[in-house]
Parts: sequence; structure tokens; C-alpha cells
Amino acid sequence: MTGPILHLDVDAFFVAVDVRDDPGLAGLPVAVADRVVACASYQARDRGVHAGMTVPQAYRACPRLVVTPPRMAAYQHASKELFALVDDRAEAVQPGSVEEAFVRLPGLTWPDAETTARDLQHEIRATLGLPVSIGVGRTKLIAKLASRAAKPGGVVVTDLADEPQVRGALRVDELWGIGPVTRDRLADAGLHAVAGLRHWSAAALVEIAGTAMGRRLHQIATGTDDTDVRPLPPRRSFSVQRSAPTHTRELAAELARRLRAERLTCRTLHVRLGGRKVKVRFDPPTNDPRRLTEAAVRLAGDHKTTAALMVTDLRPEDRPAQPPLPGL
Ligand SMILES: [Mg+2]
Repeated sequence: MTGPILHLDVDAFFVAVDVRDDPGLAGLPVAVADRVVACASYQARDRGVHAGMTVPQAYRACPRLVVTPPRMAAYQHASKELFALVDDRAEAVQPGSVEEAFVRLPGLTWPDAETTARDLQHEIRATLGLPVSIGVGRTKLIAKLASRAAKPGGVVVTDLADEPQVRGALRVDELWGIGPVTRDRLADAGLHAVAGLRHWSAAALVEIAGTAMGRRLHQIATGTDDTDVRPLPPRRSFSVQRSAPTHTRELAAELARRLRAERLTCRTLHVRLGGRKVKVRFDPPTNDPRRLTEAAVRLAGDHKTTAALMVTDLRPEDRPAQPPLPGL
């Protein structure tokens, strides 16, 4: 598909909801924080405050900082309103978190993309009081990069003519899901920007970056990355448990097979044995048999077991990974 995909992302979401509900906060350096900053306003970010800082660190960076307690119920309500509005306009919506989504609008063409994105941005501001940035691109990656470039409050359209340049200039360490180890291995091979990957085979990239990331890099380099905007799956979990003791590795492999068959990844793996429950989180989400097996072995042991293994927080396979807290 070559039609435009929108990536819509609320700017400083938690703060935006707080400012909407208490206009006296507008323009101030604000951080939503319990003990740790979950979200900082752009004015606070300009003074060096960012998500993940402790409150004392944040005050040191910005003594005039206004700290507000998280109001999760209000954020969830705002998120529901946002998705209700977008669902109403869209042909397909794929949520990325509580406050961002990929959107395909019915009949949208490239010449109309910028005006339509601005209309949607104004409508969300007018009816919900929330500031959003919107990026438009042919693939989900290009749309998401465009919304990042549009922040805060902008619209950026990367059309078919601009795409090759934007794609080629993209640094590999800007890609979601590239960890420091993979980044260093790519750097050792002289690979820093996507343009440099173009002459590498998928097999060579898999050798450097592992199966899933190697393939993804090859797709990004060749422009064959994901254009499929699809709703989150109705399925919420898979579990596997055998009546006869079965090796942990076999159970983990079974989960990986089932995830892959439905092109899903998971964020969380749970192991339950008797009354004991343990879990591990994956960031980025995974369906890699090796990662699932390693984690399962760590939780359930490297031997036969009657434990039940379950994966939850399922996501479509090639959704870009991002931190669990919507700090942007
Ligand atoms: Mg955001």
C-alpha cells in the first residue's frame, strides 16, 4: 500500500490533561510525578527535566517546577475520548499506547494529507482540549518519525518524494528497539545510517543483529517495512501447560510458535507453579524463541516441569517498540 498513514501522538499527555483541567498550569514548567517524573511539560523539558528523574533531581534542575500527582483515572478517560473520536473518523486504527495511534483515513490521498491532518489536529484540540502532533508517511515507521519531528504541536508530512532521503539519513540508533549491543555491532561493521545498510543482504544483517532485528533492518533499508494499520488483537494471552512434566524449553518454544503463527509479540511472560507466580517483562516486546526460552528457563528452571507458562500484553509483530510509560 502506498496511501498515507497518520501517526498521531498527544504532546506531553499527562501534563496536557492536567493543563486542560487546570488552565492555571498553562505555560508553567510542570511535571507529573509520584516519586519519579512520569511526564514533563515542554517548559520543564527546556530546563532539563525529563521522565525517569526523581522529584529531587527534577527540582534541582528546575527550582520553579510545579509537581502534580498522577491522575490515572483522568488520563484513562481522556484516552478513551481520544480513541472514540479517532475511531469515528478512521478506516483503521492501531493504538501504540494510551495516547498514540497509527491511523488510516478513508479515501485519503497524498495531496490532501497535510490539510486533513491539520483538520484532525484542530478538531482534537477543539473538542477534547488536547494538543497532538501528527506525522504522515507511507509506512508506519516513516509516519512515526514524522510525528516525532512534528513535536510539539506540529504536522509533518513525509511524502513519497521525500521518503528516500529521510529513510537513508535515519541513524540506526534512532530506530526503536536497537539496544547498545546491536548498535555497537553495527558500528563495528561501519553501519551508522540506514543508507549504509542498503547493500547488505538480509542474511548478513541477521548475522550482526539477530534474526528479528536483522530482518527488520533489511526491510527498513529496502523500504519494505510495515504499512499495515491493524487494530490490536482481540486475543489477550496464550498459555501452555501439560499434564505430564514437560521441559521448560519445549513449553517456551510452543508459546513462540503460537505467537508467530498469529504475528504477535508479547510484553510479559508469566510462570505459575502451584500457588507461586512470577513474571518477566520484555522491552521491546518479543516472539523470539531464544528470548522467550531464556526467560522461561530463568523463571521455571532448565528441566521438566508442570508449571503453566503464559504470555500477555500481546502486540502486532512489527509495531515499533517504545517505553511502557507514555512520557512523550
Ligand atoms: Mg505522546
